[in-house]
Order: sequence, then C-alpha cells, then structure tokens
Amino acid sequence: MKIAPTPEDEAERQRSLDSMGILSTPRDPELDRITRLAERIFKTEMVAISLLDGDRQFLKSRVNLAVSETPRDISFCSHAIMHDAPLVVENAMNDDRFNGNPLVVGAPHIRSYAGVPLSNSEGYKLGTLCIIDSKVRHFSDPEIETLKDLAHWVETVLALRYTERSQKQLLLDLDAAHRDVMIDGLTGVWNRRGLEELLAREMTSSRIKGGSVGVFMLDIDHFKQINDTYGHLIGDKVIQGIAAIMSSSLRDHDIVGRFGGDEFVCVLPGLRLEQTLYLGYKLCDTVRDQCRVSDTNGDTIPITVSVGATWISNESTGLYEPHEVLRIADEALYEAKENGRDTVSYHALDRHGSLDGPK
Ligand code: GH3
Ligand code: MG
Repeated sequence: MKIAPTPEDEAERQRSLDSMGILSTPRDPELDRITRLAERIFKTEMVAISLLDGDRQFLKSRVNLAVSETPRDISFCSHAIMHDAPLVVENAMNDDRFNGNPLVVGAPHIRSYAGVPLSNSEGYKLGTLCIIDSKVRHFSDPEIETLKDLAHWVETVLALRYTERSQKQLLLDLDAAHRDVMIDGLTGVWNRRGLEELLAREMTSSRIKGGSVGVFMLDIDHFKQINDTYGHLIGDKVIQGIAAIMSSSLRDHDIVGRFGGDEFVCVLPGLRLEQTLYLGYKLCDTVRDQCRVSDTNGDTIPITVSVGATWISNESTGLYEPHEVLRIADEALYEAKENGRDTVSYHALDRHGSLDGPK
C-alpha cells in the first residue's frame, strides 16, 4: 500500500474548504439525492461524496457506508485528488497503491473504485464523488462519463449552497428601485456603478475570508469601424452579444458588467494568479469564436476584444481602492491594444501579483 502525496497547495486548499462551511453543516438532501441516484445508475454497493479535511476523509454523503469518516492516509480519494482525471481501480488487490490497505483487507473489503475529483469555485480539489464495490468490476467509458456528469452536478450544488458571494448579497440588500440604477439598460448586466459597488464588496469579503480576486477589463477592437460600417443598431447587437457570451461562459458568482461604451469588466472572486492569464486568453477566444452578429447580407461580422488583466492577492485586498485596481486593469488593456489587439496583457498590482516573482 502507498500513502498518497499531499497536494502542493494543501494549506490554501484546506483554507478554501474551511471557508465554505460545508464541514459543519447538516446532511444535505440534494447531495444525498445525487449519491442515491449514482447507486441506482451504477448498481455499486457503496457511493460517497468525500471531503479531505486535515487528516481525515469526511463523507458528506454516503450510501451503504457504515462510517462517516476514515483516516485520510488510507483513503482512495486522497490519491484521486492528485489528478484531474477520474481514478479508476478495477481490482484493488492488483494495485500497488491499495493492496494491503485496511479498507481492502478488512471491511468494507473494497475491490473496485471509481472516483471523480470535485473542485470548488476557487479551483481547489476538495474530495471526490466515488462509487465503490467489494467485487472486482470493470467501468466502461460511458459509465465514467456519467459519473463525471454527476460530479459536475455535485460541484454546482456546492457552489450554490456553500459559497455566499457579494453578488447574491447585493441583490438581497437592495430593493428593486436601487437595483435598477445599477443595471445597464442595453445589455442587462451590471453598469459601472454596480461594478464599482460589487468590486468593493468583493475586495472586502476576500480580505475577511482570505481569498484573491481576478479583474479583467475588455474593450471591443475597432468598434468605431463596426458602427461606421454596419450602423449603430448592429453595433448595439455586438455589445449585447458580448455581454451575453461573457455572462454565460463565466461561473455563477463571477461578476460581469459594462463599464461604459464598448468596455466591459469581469470580476472573478477566488481566481488564482496562475489561472489569470489563461482565463484572459479564454475570454478572447470565446468572444472571437462565439460572437455571431450578421450584417445585412447574413455574413458574420468578425468581432474580437482586447483584455487587460490584473489580480488582487489576499495580502493586497485591504491596501487598494477599487478605482486603483481598475486603473491597473485599464493600463494593461492599453498595452494589449498596443500589442496588436485580440490579445491579453497582465499588469501586476504589486509584488504579490508578479507572475515570476514572489507570490
Ligand atoms: P480600439 O480597438 O482602440 O478600442 O478602437 P475602437 O474603434 O473600439 O475605439 P473606442 O473603443 O474608443 O470606440 C468606442 C466606440 O463605441 C465609440 C462610440 O461611438 C461607440 N459606442 C459607445 N457606446 C455605444 C453604444 O451604446 N452603442 C453603439 N452602437 N456604439 C457605442
Ligand atoms: Mg474599442
């Protein structure tokens, strides 16, 4: 038997898990529904949603498992979270990592296991959705795909229930009249006032809870030319199209707004520094590939955006005002325009956000 290595980001992973409040909450009927369904679909003896918490594996939801936790160092899930792909073990007796494991040689006599890592909205792997049997078993590709779909459902439930976010809270705090003045009429996303309010709230909440925030400023490339060539109505459709694409391609609690004219801002709570540039490029790709507005002949108008990115570390959230963060993102955007457009530039707010320096 082999004990799984500890994830490199274990301290942050644990902090992120703790901040969700999921370990000290009662049994969740929605998660139980998913594990029951998994049992019926796969007809395995046991199903669990496991969370790796300190030196234990806590079973947040379980079917036919007698105990609610096991030591982490004998858990299959601690191996599973080291990879993005599902961990599939068809016969634990033939696997160096698990033969001799107390859960294999003793109750519940595990022989087969398939577990899909579960990530939270900050991108940390918390544990797995796993199906377990005391018989040797082959898992087909379609079965693994189905298990991945169920795991995605678990992640959605976790994101909705256990992450209280600024956007949700702002909606609760404001009555309809006050909300209206923060929404952009053309696109239905937040306007500049709403964005500034939400960025301020997100920075405060990240400072208290300990977390980082990614901030992107996007500007449509050569938009004047689009207006001049195709008219303002088509121009408006482009602005609406980009707002819709960004809202649907980001996560539920990410904040999307129209900063003004042809400029948009996205605020991504919990984004990690190493994900920031990648996400900026993804925003460029998504707009280029998915923004489909046609001219009067029915031909698709090519649309691209330039992106300026910056990132606020946990250490820096209390040190800056939202307008300073937006100014840095705007400077990065200016650079992306200078670099030829349809690209991303990243500007660090301070040394914590340096891409090659200390983090
Ligand atoms: P660049 O690539 O440097 O961004 O060039 P650009 O042509 O996009 O330049 P800029 O961002 O300065 O142009 C913004 C244009 O957006 C100017 C303005 O007429 C137009 N605009 C602003 N608000 C609206 C709107 O609500 N609808 C339409 N159709 N156009 C708008
Ligand atoms: Mg522009």
